[in-house]
Amino acid sequence: MISIKSEREIELMKKAGSIVGATHNYLKQFVKPGITTKELDKLAYDFILSQDATPSFLNLYGFPGTICTSINDEVVHGIPSNRKLKNGDIVKLDIGACYKGYHGDSAWTYPVGTIDNKKQYLLEHTEKALYEGLSVIKEGVHLSDIGAAVEAYAKKHKLGVVKELVGHGIGTEVHMEPDVPNYGTPGHGPILKAGMTIAVEPMLNLGTANIYMLDDEWTIITADGKPSAHFEHTILVEKDGYTILTKR
Ligand code: MG
Ligand code: MG
Repeated sequence: MISIKSEREIELMKKAGSIVGATHNYLKQFVKPGITTKELDKLAYDFILSQDATPSFLNLYGFPGTICTSINDEVVHGIPSNRKLKNGDIVKLDIGACYKGYHGDSAWTYPVGTIDNKKQYLLEHTEKALYEGLSVIKEGVHLSDIGAAVEAYAKKHKLGVVKELVGHGIGTEVHMEPDVPNYGTPGHGPILKAGMTIAVEPMLNLGTANIYMLDDEWTIITADGKPSAHFEHTILVEKDGYTILTKR
């Protein structure tokens, strides 16, 4: 069952989403060479609490951080640590916040200092792939239309589409029905209805789509060591389109 949110629930989802967006805005200024991902994590923790919200990911399935911090070839679920960001890195910050029982979830990939052209290409086209996926959303379309749009865009730009990890429904929990893959054939799966809230989150790689998990049992990395990017918004399905809930 994919839940349809009431007016009241939508207001709470909007608030949760805006807190996630504000946390991104706040953290962005600290993404510089020399800062550790643990320091970013602490800044996120304090900021989310200052907004009368709680971090969605802290202790979720046992995750030890407030945010996921994934550098370069790390795709997702990187654990905040004493590793310092270096000039030329890219870092993915995945942020979730819970406000009065409702969650927002948004990941973004940030350049650290000056990045090379290949990383720039990856960031530009992964962000565009997210908006390609979102662009098809409105009441009445099939869920798989989203993934099909993301995949078509990624293929056109010769980027590897991570298939093992997917977007998701979101509301009273971070991860709810349905799964929202970043690939697929149009016209399949559930039909979207106004009031559904989902997180769309392409993870695209500069090289192979293949990934594996590090021994920490969290961090996912690309199999060929090439960089990966991740852009995610939580959105509300509307009659004639969609609204981004995690706007900056
Ligand atoms: Mg996320
Ligand atoms: Mg998500």
